[in-house]
Amino acid sequence: MSALGEEIKALIRDHGPISLERYMALALTHPTHGYYMHRDPFGASGDFTTAPEISQMFGELIGLWAAEVWASMGAPNPVRLIELGPGRGTLMSDALRAARVAPNFRAVLDVCLIEASPMLAAIQHETLLTAGAPISWAAGWREAPEGPAIVIANEFLDALPIRQYVRGPRDWRERVVTLDEKGALTFALAPSAEPYIGARAEEGAVLEVNAIAHRLVYAIAERLAKQGGAALFIDYGHTTTGFGDTLQAVRSHRMVDPLSEPGTADITAHVDFAAMARSARAAGAAIYGPIPQGDFLRALGLDQRAATLARKGGPQQIADIEAARLRLSGKGEGEMGALFKAMVVANRNLPPPPGFQP
Ligand code: SAH
Repeated sequence: MSALGEEIKALIRDHGPISLERYMALALTHPTHGYYMHRDPFGASGDFTTAPEISQMFGELIGLWAAEVWASMGAPNPVRLIELGPGRGTLMSDALRAARVAPNFRAVLDVCLIEASPMLAAIQHETLLTAGAPISWAAGWREAPEGPAIVIANEFLDALPIRQYVRGPRDWRERVVTLDEKGALTFALAPSAEPYIGARAEEGAVLEVNAIAHRLVYAIAERLAKQGGAALFIDYGHTTTGFGDTLQAVRSHRMVDPLSEPGTADITAHVDFAAMARSARAAGAAIYGPIPQGDFLRALGLDQRAATLARKGGPQQIADIEAARLRLSGKGEGEMGALFKAMVVANRNLPPPPGFQP
């Protein structure tokens, strides 16, 4: 068992079962043993690959998206460009390079990266050394600088800890992490019911609630409603709230048991976009989407960008660009175009953002 696994077992032995939310938070961001804290999880040699790591086109299109949104905001000076969970900094690097075509936007940019992991923050620093924009780091949204803002979050909400509730014969019970007779980590149901959950479902149905993401999206929306701007969320998830267990753990590009060796696998859950939209609307913001990632990227000009890049490349590069274009926007198995969704939360005075225009 991993060091973190031993620590969690001791915690449960001393204090009783813990919520899935607590377990996921420890597994991902425990200061010394959390999954993200001391490793670079991305790419072929890592555990998973994200859209910006597949192709420069992803970040480039988002950089141009941001420049257009800024113009539609009335070109505020300065404007905060805030990214939540920037990974290796690849998206931001590609976005800033593409935004060179909008020098007025580039000139007033103040970039802030929200990152929990000191290791990934160091990699972001390296990646962005020559980006030519002022960049600061913060550990949480609350520390992000005030003012009109454009917020970007790719595969961030899915990493925030969820709670799960399971429908029993009579009532809903929270799913907790506890120890079995042999002392191994196992899932169980809490002894007491959650009588305030009114959702009707068959026995065994699983209800997922991401209160941390709800609060974050509410806080972002509230600020955008007051101070101006828009936030782009891209993640894998569903457009309507439903039942189902979407918790998954991935190590070396393979699904593993979320309770095995905590701290050594990425743990995520699908984003409930409808729930996130309710949160943002309650805070007074406008919502656009969610729409399939493939539709969003194509509306921003993915196919044209791919064609332009291919013109400069040799046969191998042309094949790579086409493979990346399909992986990002295709809607078949193993492709991200339909599974991933894009949603924008914006100040109500803004026109529909690029990609969401009717
Ligand atoms: N957006 C990047 C990385 C996605 S992985 C990409 O698309 O490649 C999730 C990112 O969020 C990582 O950078 C991780 O360290 C960060 N992260 C996870 N939980 C976080 C939290 N609670 N607060 C801040 N950053 C967090």
